[in-house]
Amino acid sequence: MFEKILIANRGEIALRVIRACREMGIKSVAVHSTADADAMHVRMADESVCIGPAPSSESYLSKAAIISACEITGAQAVHPGYGFLSENASFAQALEDHGITFIGPSAEHIRIMGDKITAKETAKALGIPVVPGSDGGVADFETAIGVAEGIGFPVIIKATAGGGGRGMKVAKTPEELEIAFRTARAEAKAAFGNDEVYIEKYLQKPRHIEIQVFGDGKGGAVHLGERDCSLQRRHQKVFEEAPGPAITPKMRSEIGAICANAMSKIAYIGAGTVEFLYEDGNFYFIEMNTRLQVEHPVTEFIFGVDLVREQIRVASGMALSFTQDDLEINGHAIEVRINAEKLPNFAPCPGKVRTFHAPGGLGVRMDSALYGGYSIPPYYDSLIGKLIVHGRDRPEALSRLRRALGELIVDGVDTTVPLFHALLAEPDIQNGDYNIHWLEKWLAQQF
Ligand code: ADP
Repeated sequence: MFEKILIANRGEIALRVIRACREMGIKSVAVHSTADADAMHVRMADESVCIGPAPSSESYLSKAAIISACEITGAQAVHPGYGFLSENASFAQALEDHGITFIGPSAEHIRIMGDKITAKETAKALGIPVVPGSDGGVADFETAIGVAEGIGFPVIIKATAGGGGRGMKVAKTPEELEIAFRTARAEAKAAFGNDEVYIEKYLQKPRHIEIQVFGDGKGGAVHLGERDCSLQRRHQKVFEEAPGPAITPKMRSEIGAICANAMSKIAYIGAGTVEFLYEDGNFYFIEMNTRLQVEHPVTEFIFGVDLVREQIRVASGMALSFTQDDLEINGHAIEVRINAEKLPNFAPCPGKVRTFHAPGGLGVRMDSALYGGYSIPPYYDSLIGKLIVHGRDRPEALSRLRRALGELIVDGVDTTVPLFHALLAEPDIQNGDYNIHWLEKWLAQQF
């Protein structure tokens, strides 16, 4: 087992990894930008290293600075968290070249899944059902119109290199397609430096259902059921739950087995998430994330496992500490993402937190790096905490969430807490009756 792990991240996820390290008797190293000198992850880690100025391009994304920090501190492995360098194949490769373990999949698997067209082709070859669409990239409008007419309108144009919900355009008619095709390519070029796009059937009322998978790198792989992450704003998740209200045990074990088998065939190592759109009983693969996800705690709650601990174990060459048969769902869990944002426009709202009080009690988990007196810097993501609750069933989880939200105090900055109070009062949310378009439609009516 490793003696020392460096965490190449900040905020709540850095704390999450430090906590797992401490429970496993592993020393932790925090890295930080100059803007984060007072951050909680720096205080909580055993050691810390400043790796550069505030902009993440010069600190949290600086491979050379992070590798130097490993050399200086003698860290044997790096946990990348999510975002930043967590899905950067050349970073995983560079670490390996320096004899440092990347706590995550191989550079090759990151590369395959990082390119959405290759990911889709790979998924298809591994027996995973995919969204109907173009075979690979579409370079000109004539081809685009041919594909769209073949699968039928509406269609969605997506950037091969896309991520974070960016670079997607919907077209309902050939006229719209012409404009959408051109703007999608231009936006993709500007955002990702790659103008390749592909076309998919645009599903009208799907749910976003994702399967948590875990591989031991030796051909052993399991699935840990699904999360329903359909409540999204601008293709970004805001509320996630497990198990999915629309998924039956039979569907779960079928799609779960397909995903676990696929991971076993490629000898995948570590945590991964296979994302699907789900409509009328069918699953359609959209992409795979080769890292720990923001919403992993809902899965941890219902299965009673520590996913970060498992990531560290398999990265060090140990076996998974559970088999598929050991994994049994217990109750229901919900996560809400608390962002420092001002409603109704969700404008980022950094600033000084005067008071912070985290909710507690049975079945409540608050993952946050806030503390009273902390100044949220303007340079990074607006996520300031995740409130996760667990109940014996969905109604209990919902009332626990309502109760816990009422206890939470974040004084000094605006947050998305009022959004969740309002959502919990909605019958559709109480009934689990929503799809990926529900939240946008509801928001448009509210404000
Ligand atoms: P990103 O990597 O940018 O997050 P994804 O491919 O994961 O992009 O898609 C993000 C979200 O966009 C999905 O959860 C869904 O809400 C929407 N979306 C993606 N593909 C389709 C599709 N074919 N039809 C309808 N909605 C889609």
